[in-house]
Amino acid sequence: MRKAGRHFLQIPGPSAVPDRILSAIGQQTIDHRGPDFAKVGMRALDGMKSIFNTKEHVFIYPSSGTGAWEAALVNTLSPGDCVLMFETGHFATLWKKLAEKLGLKAEFIEGDWRGGADPDQIEAYLAEDKNHEIKAVCVVHNETSTGSVSPIAAVRQAIDNANHPALFMVDTISGLASLEYQHDAWGVDVTVSGSQKGLMLPPGLSFNAASAKAMAANKTATLQRSYWDWAEMVGPNKTGYFPYTPATNLLYGLNEAVDMLHEEGMENVFARHARHGQAARAAVRTWGLEVLCAAQGQESGVLTAVKLPDGHSADAFRASTLEHYDISLGNGLSKVADKVFRIGHLGDFNDLMLVGTLAGVEMGLKKANVPHNAGGVQAAMELLS
Ligand SMILES: *Cc1c(COP(=O)(O)O)cnc(C)c1O
Repeated sequence: MRKAGRHFLQIPGPSAVPDRILSAIGQQTIDHRGPDFAKVGMRALDGMKSIFNTKEHVFIYPSSGTGAWEAALVNTLSPGDCVLMFETGHFATLWKKLAEKLGLKAEFIEGDWRGGADPDQIEAYLAEDKNHEIKAVCVVHNETSTGSVSPIAAVRQAIDNANHPALFMVDTISGLASLEYQHDAWGVDVTVSGSQKGLMLPPGLSFNAASAKAMAANKTATLQRSYWDWAEMVGPNKTGYFPYTPATNLLYGLNEAVDMLHEEGMENVFARHARHGQAARAAVRTWGLEVLCAAQGQESGVLTAVKLPDGHSADAFRASTLEHYDISLGNGLSKVADKVFRIGHLGDFNDLMLVGTLAGVEMGLKKANVPHNAGGVQAAMELLS
């Protein structure tokens, strides 16, 4: 049966792609080794530096974010190296599994999935590592499975306080272009990101921003790499080209996205996300439901993960809401599967879209007989107006 009106894609990535970006992607594909491509490539490489806030090298891959996770590790580490990771949630756990499959020894500081990484625990862990066995500290900036944000500048400070030489790697796949991010000022060695979240693009591009220290590590790191090898990228990138066929049409879209972000102003983009996070949480609390992130000040402006009351299936609720109101909400992942649902409020998004989204959730709670108080949408509207 035809569904009238537009679908609400309110998962925390992919986010809805604005028309301007879709039109940009719709241009004819050109010769990626021809003279016209250089301008497209240079604009994309320089544009991403402005988004990461870096003067260092940015690498662009035709892959999902997972590829850029792998690229960060294989370009800088050697078989058997120890990496310290923090269990913020499902995505931190997946990055750890990936590291283990590559032959690294990944150590986990356990977390309860209700907040960001704890700098004090990281500092204490590193202080114990007298022989500097740990070669990298890896943290997820915006943990998309829980809606919690890790304090990246404070983790840098923790590494410095412990006087530890480990590389610092950050996954901001779902944080970039929604939350403030400073690759250089925060002293990050490798930042990992992807196209389909705050950058408002379809899935298919991923990024590494690399510090001088990371580039130096690349020279001696012996993990096997070919497709992901930074060393193959550096030369062609100097003139705007790539060693193999780049995702030409997604790069058209990326250039449009970077323009749109700067037209709005990055500070305004960040403030918009923070405000929408606040309004979403006001709605959830009015419903009498619990926000999964329990760490005050670390709640995400990208998404809100909501716990359902015991005995109620989050997946059944989501299925019913999709059927009745044509809205896709994010599912709970691994440890919190069927216990939480996630409301994405990222990317090209405004107040009325948020109110519509929250109305879909509130009507859905009623339809699925989930016990709750009315008035959540009202509370969000108060905050927004
Ligand atoms: C989406 C996401 C990933 C995975 O990216 P893919 O593009 O699905 O490979 C990893 N980490 C975080 C924090 C994410 O939000």
